[in-house]
Amino acid sequence: MSDSMPLFVDDSYIREFDARVVRSGPRFVVLDVTAFYPEGGGQPSDTGTLEAGEKTFKVLKAMKRGTQIFHYLDGDVPEGVVVRGTVDWGRRFIHMRLHSGEHLLTGLFEAESAGPKVFSSFSQLDFQPSAIDEATLKRVRERFDAVVDENVPITIYYTSRDELDVGDDARKRSFLEKIPPNVQELRMVKIGGYAMTFCMGTHVRSTGDIGKLRSLRLETKKKQRKIVYFELDNVK
Ligand SMILES: [Zn+2]
Repeated sequence: MSDSMPLFVDDSYIREFDARVVRSGPRFVVLDVTAFYPEGGGQPSDTGTLEAGEKTFKVLKAMKRGTQIFHYLDGDVPEGVVVRGTVDWGRRFIHMRLHSGEHLLTGLFEAESAGPKVFSSFSQLDFQPSAIDEATLKRVRERFDAVVDENVPITIYYTSRDELDVGDDARKRSFLEKIPPNVQELRMVKIGGYAMTFCMGTHVRSTGDIGKLRSLRLETKKKQRKIVYFELDNVK
């Protein structure tokens, strides 16, 4: 069994690619290379199509199983066949915008000493314990839109695990502990001086592509848990 070379790790903007089927089963294939992002790290799976000769199959979902990426299809494609993959770009680009937005917001709240982040998604950040209030929210919102206007590049680089200092951030530490010990190089995503974290997800190239916030809302729960809900402009 060979691994699936993930093209999206070094270039999130690849939307079409050629590949060979290296493993095949009922309504699924594994490819030697793929641009389909598998569900994981809070980011949903890509969808799209695989063309094999005259036939076009739908890619309903991609999922990582061990070191391979399984593509679930609406039909069968035999091993050895060369296919052309096309990622549903509209869907993926929204995921990239939301994910980069999630990183930027996290960085801006960290700069406001929001407290430990205990949950994060494409629409929500939870901090606990946290003292953030409506005034914090207003400042972060203005900052976010200013950074979008500034169109800061979002860069990816690698750092060795030993060099990474997560301080007393329990969430980052537990995330690190889940990475197999043989993985020594970590992929870091940096948004200028505003945000930096290790991440395997797909991102836009610069903050201008994230777009501005449509809404930013604060909810206060028990035990100083603060939930921030966010929406971006032009996302359904
Ligand atoms: Zn990420």
